[in-house]
Amino acid sequence: MAVRVRIAPSPTGLLHIGTASTALFNWLFARHEGGEFRLRIENTDTSREVAEAVDQIQDSLRWLGLDWDGPVTFQLDRMDDCRRLAEQLVAEGKAYEDEGAIRFRMPDEGVTAWDDVVRGRVEVRNETIEDLVIVRSDGRPTYNFASPLEDVWDGITHVIRGDDHISNTPKQLNIISAVAADVPVYAHVPMIFGMDGKKLSKRHGAQAVEDFRAAGYLPETMMNFLALLGWAPDGETTIMNREELLRRFDLTRVSPSPAQFDYRKLDWMNGVYLRELPPEEFAHRLLLWLGENGYDWPAELVTRTAPLVQEKIAKLSEFPGFAGFFFGDVEPGQADLDGGAPMLAAADEALASLEPFDATAIEAALRDTADRLGLKPRQAFQPIRVAVTGSRVSPGLFESIELLGRETTLSRLRAAAGAAG
Ligand code: GLU
Repeated sequence: MAVRVRIAPSPTGLLHIGTASTALFNWLFARHEGGEFRLRIENTDTSREVAEAVDQIQDSLRWLGLDWDGPVTFQLDRMDDCRRLAEQLVAEGKAYEDEGAIRFRMPDEGVTAWDDVVRGRVEVRNETIEDLVIVRSDGRPTYNFASPLEDVWDGITHVIRGDDHISNTPKQLNIISAVAADVPVYAHVPMIFGMDGKKLSKRHGAQAVEDFRAAGYLPETMMNFLALLGWAPDGETTIMNREELLRRFDLTRVSPSPAQFDYRKLDWMNGVYLRELPPEEFAHRLLLWLGENGYDWPAELVTRTAPLVQEKIAKLSEFPGFAGFFFGDVEPGQADLDGGAPMLAAADEALASLEPFDATAIEAALRDTADRLGLKPRQAFQPIRVAVTGSRVSPGLFESIELLGRETTLSRLRAAAGAAG
């Protein structure tokens, strides 16, 4: 039988990285097995906020590269079916009315148990499970009633979800047995913690998929990184693209221990993915990111400057800080220019009529100038770098000057020479 899995996010805001990780495990499992991955929204109303959150969830999943099968379904659409079934359970003596609510009669003796793919056998003594409210007195079915019913109606074969739901599973198993349906296989995947061992929170860094996107991480980095939160194909491999993840993913190798989110490792991994992109693809990603983040910079110039930064940045968001001097004026720090006036003036002279105005010729001319002034290249080039890029850290100086062009370079050298006194 083909497998069918789902994620069932509550539309309460942006897609949290923990839900994204669960989604990824579901998706990898479904695609690896040639089965289906469904998206089910656990809404309790249809407000504008909910509609927005539903759109955002889908955007984030698409951005990550996770596609789902069939239409998105909504829990709210199934409330009548849930209520009808609750009435039926009452009629069968399996549930009863209690102060206007309906409670499900949990077994009092024995155990409720399941073989969890990740955690092994889990057993819960039935005397510890209290009779569950399945329909509230205002008529609204509860999560622990609606969710397992939806799993049944959707033909879900494997419920892969965060291990914060373990305590719900025995209740849901009893509901499913009461309606005489087959129970799915359960796999409770680990929650994500920070490096300090505390549950991941804003304090640690970005939380929502959209935040990571805005911070300039690539979707392929996120997929690779999230896949390794709680799973590993072996003890060694870290960089795995989508195809490799799909080929190697194995739910039985997901670890029950909490996964640790290492933001530094994420930066490192993103740098690896950025450097691996073909130059034109790197430029394309930069343009996408710039567009999404309100930068209206000329595409042609972005494309020409991209190769100068590809090796140097770990996140697309570093581009404006690093290469912004190509797109707007600079304000060199006075202190960084101190003592640079003679070199700035000499550079101005050396570059004024240099032909051709390319990186190789610029480098030769500036080295020659430094020599004549009796300065070490590093010492000589620092004020020039600060003058033309506005910063002590920049892409390659000679390539940058070539791209910037003679006119801009000379005017920046002159302005800085004036300022340097
Ligand atoms: N709305 C729940 C969550 O997002 C769904 C849990 C489940 O998968 O059953 O955690």
